[in-house]
Amino acid sequence: MGNTGGKGLSLARRLYTSRAVGLVLGLLCVSVAMAPLDPAPWVWGLMLFNGLIWPHLAYQWARRSPRPYHAEHRNLLVDAFMGGFWVAAMQFNPLPSATTISMMAMNNVAIGGLRFLLAGTVAQVLGVGVGWLIFTPLFIPETSQLQLYACLPLMCFYPLVLGLICFRQAYTLGRQKRELLALSRTDSLTGLLNHGAWKDQMEVEFQRCQRQQQGGAIALIDIDHFKSINDTYGHVAGDIVLRQLSKMLKQNLRATDIAGRYGGDEFCVILPDLPLCSAGSVMEALRDRFATLGYEHDPALKVSLSIGLAAFDLAHIDATMWLNDADQALYEAKTTGRNRVICCGDGWPQRELLDPV
Ligand code: GH3
Ligand code: MG
Repeated sequence: MGNTGGKGLSLARRLYTSRAVGLVLGLLCVSVAMAPLDPAPWVWGLMLFNGLIWPHLAYQWARRSPRPYHAEHRNLLVDAFMGGFWVAAMQFNPLPSATTISMMAMNNVAIGGLRFLLAGTVAQVLGVGVGWLIFTPLFIPETSQLQLYACLPLMCFYPLVLGLICFRQAYTLGRQKRELLALSRTDSLTGLLNHGAWKDQMEVEFQRCQRQQQGGAIALIDIDHFKSINDTYGHVAGDIVLRQLSKMLKQNLRATDIAGRYGGDEFCVILPDLPLCSAGSVMEALRDRFATLGYEHDPALKVSLSIGLAAFDLAHIDATMWLNDADQALYEAKTTGRNRVICCGDGWPQRELLDPV
């Protein structure tokens, strides 16, 4: 429960508005029902306190509490208790009593679910009991015209306010869910897709190539001797190189190409609908540009890339086979001297795609 403070504070803020509106409208409803009963001055005082001062006091109490969430639960029980108390004080006048009880039930269930509805009901029954002992009420079976009108603002506006608060909450949750989903798919250092998200995209691209019998290519890009860059220039410089490569990928690829960080110093790209020769040219240009790049903090630093490229082939049974081809090509680039692009695959359809019309 490490975040009870934050959770409680946002609950307190939401309840502040709904309580302030609900209780001021409730004051109108209860005071008009109470007026013909000629209540004692202390009862008027309590009514005014409950309707006008309590919402602000409850909020400050919860805000200053070390555990605002628990403080708000206690405040909600006080609300329910007082609701029951006023129902007995109004001599169970039908419409104001039903309005008070139903609005409180709606509030409790919206804020704390069925568990809180139950706890609130117990507090309400207790409030009725205490009110009964103090006022020894009779049952007033009729609600006057004026009392009916006095209930209308609470009946009409309070559900609106509570509904709006719940909608805002649901909207914020939806937005946060989308943000979290995006974060879970993003590599935090480079802002590219992370390993899992990129592989999902590769699976989609593989299915598409199979379905449409179209060509496409994937590339695995690995920084040469990255470990010694870290060792010589430090990990901060290493991170700058990784970010620089991701920036170059974002700038130099088409909008439809999908770049990701496969892990460590290895990057990966999907190049849809591109013949192997064109994909090769794109990667060759990238390799060349990256090799000549200068770094402000370390002018002596030069970094090269090894790139393995594989075209989609109908012989691939699954996406992993396609990725293995790119891996093989990368391995070949590494073992034949690094700083180069190696293309893999001469099966269908890239033979046709390699012969541009
Ligand atoms: P090769 O030319 O064969 O690719 O050798 P290499 O040194 O590039 O490859 P190796 O796999 O030996 O080293 C990769 C290094 O990348 C090791 C690891 O410490 C470093 N590394 C992995 N992730 C990060 C990162 O996020 N930041 C930094 N600065 N270094 C990283
Ligand atoms: Mg490397």
